[in-house]
Amino acid sequence: MEKSAANYTVSTCDEVNSTGRLTLNARLSLTGSEISINELPAGIGVDFVHSHKQNEEVYIILAGEGYMFIDGDEFPVREGSVIRVAPEGQRCITAGKDSSLRFICIQTQSNSLQQFTMDDGMLNDVTPSWLK
Ligand code: ZN
Repeated sequence: MEKSAANYTVSTCDEVNSTGRLTLNARLSLTGSEISINELPAGIGVDFVHSHKQNEEVYIILAGEGYMFIDGDEFPVREGSVIRVAPEGQRCITAGKDSSLRFICIQTQSNSLQQFTMDDGMLNDVTPSWLK
């Protein structure tokens, strides 16, 4: 379903299966983060090490097994692993030899978070149909 209105955008991420990477920034008109959905086939990894100028990254492993390299450390990751990397962290990720690796990477400006959840959320006086 594709839909957008003043305060939301709905899209799909189906094609990540054929391209290996789908970035949501433009698709969802994101203003505070970049989010990518990634699928590395078994035995395939990113073929460069990178860091960032000001953005930290969170990797959320959704399925499969693989390895991360961060600042010379190498360690296994698997479904359920969550990894935060500081901007200057030198990182790389690969799927395992016998397992694909599906993950979300969220990139946000380090130290930009001012408040969240109950400090930022406000209750509104409207009701969706399933609560009536
Ligand atoms: Zn990055």
